[in-house]
Amino acid sequence: MPGQMSLDELRVAFDAGEIDTVLVAAPDMQGRLMGKRFHAAHFLESGYNETHCCNYLLATDMEMLTVEGYASTSWAKGYGDYTMKPDLATLRRVPWLPGTALVLCDLLDHHTHEEVAVSPRAILKRQVARAREMGYAAMAATELEFYIFEQSYDALRDGGTDHLTPISSYNEDYHLFQTSKEEPLMRSLRNGLYGAGIPVENSKGEAEAGQAEINIRYAEMLTTADYHVMTKQATKEIAHGLGKSVTFMAKYDHRRAGSSSHVHQSLWSLDGVPAFLDRDAEYGMSAVMRQYMAGQLAHAGELTALLAPNVNSYKRFCVGMFAPTKAVWSLDNRTAGFRVCGDGTKAVRVECRIGGADLNPYLACAGLLAAGLAGLEQGLELEPEMRGDSYQNRGAREIPKTLRHAADLLEGSAMLRAAFGDEVVEHYTHAARWEIEEHDRVVTDWERKRLLERG
Ligand code: ADP
Repeated sequence: MPGQMSLDELRVAFDAGEIDTVLVAAPDMQGRLMGKRFHAAHFLESGYNETHCCNYLLATDMEMLTVEGYASTSWAKGYGDYTMKPDLATLRRVPWLPGTALVLCDLLDHHTHEEVAVSPRAILKRQVARAREMGYAAMAATELEFYIFEQSYDALRDGGTDHLTPISSYNEDYHLFQTSKEEPLMRSLRNGLYGAGIPVENSKGEAEAGQAEINIRYAEMLTTADYHVMTKQATKEIAHGLGKSVTFMAKYDHRRAGSSSHVHQSLWSLDGVPAFLDRDAEYGMSAVMRQYMAGQLAHAGELTALLAPNVNSYKRFCVGMFAPTKAVWSLDNRTAGFRVCGDGTKAVRVECRIGGADLNPYLACAGLLAAGLAGLEQGLELEPEMRGDSYQNRGAREIPKTLRHAADLLEGSAMLRAAFGDEVVEHYTHAARWEIEEHDRVVTDWERKRLLERG
């Protein structure tokens, strides 16, 4: 693809005056890109080898607070450094920023140079390696939905978010005229991603005013998660450049549909044969696919905090708005948490619909893969398909309704403790509990409106 570069190609582009800046970035716990802007000359001289960042970057919340209680770092440990090690396979141009390239990094212990256990990229790399040891390439695509607003981020910060103006005024699902209104942003995004070597498939309007979706071609899970975080960054940066804003909140308004990040998954043999396909079986689903899905269903509750990491994420799970409420499987059924797509073809796959657009793709993919592999290892049997409207299916397995419940299930997950290690599970349980604690202590507008006069 155009856009991806070797170090030598970067050198040529620098000498030709095309690139002068390299963003050196690592994904954090929230899936944001954190790092430094290098002058290309210094990157080519030494930065390509390694640089450093404060190790609080994997122990902060959205507000960059130094949250107490993490084992990995603290005031008592002096908040030292991590080594940021560029993964040069990710080096690419970012055409939406002038003269700029970007490289993603792994985070290493400053002293031992081992990958940091709680680093999202390291967590996913370990599960992808585990799949490979079992003979499979774990493929995925993370569809990404978001809202586009007329106001810039600065205007929203100054004027408050009470009067957000979506870029279009009515449901724009598949609606080509509606999406013409957002083409200045979406065309730049598609072309920017393509020019960065990110295989964009298409964008479309989604099921609300101002809601869009961008789709990137499936790839092995680590690459997909890398695409996801770069795509989010591109969407925000391009919107900002146009004086607009976007949000990846799972539910920005209780009256409107939430934004999802559905995760399409399939396993392939290492020489490219689709391991989910058995043309003679029901829906073309192989025994491998059935066991993989059985693992995800059995552990769905434990995974939910990784698919829905914020208090707000749980407001998306509501009846009749295309977000699931039940962790069940079904063929081409958008009311189910796990939807089988591409039946009978080599594209047969499972789409997990539980994740919100606020998920961290490294953690979401790692959790889903770990659960699927556990299903394979244990030879789990797939439960019967749920048919019809799963919202109305009272006995069906529920998706946890709160982050509090999901955090308890994460903490108690023997499967995730075995796959990720205790340290990782405890780290992210602590992150979830901190979010709950922060949320619980804040008095909201809703409370003031409801109680101030009438209460
Ligand atoms: P829909 O009609 O539901 O939008 P698409 O054909 O657009 O479905 O596919 C949705 C996503 O699934 C795309 O990002 C695509 O790359 C991905 N996808 C297609 N085949 C597979 C597969 N075998 N495994 C994982 N993801 C896949």
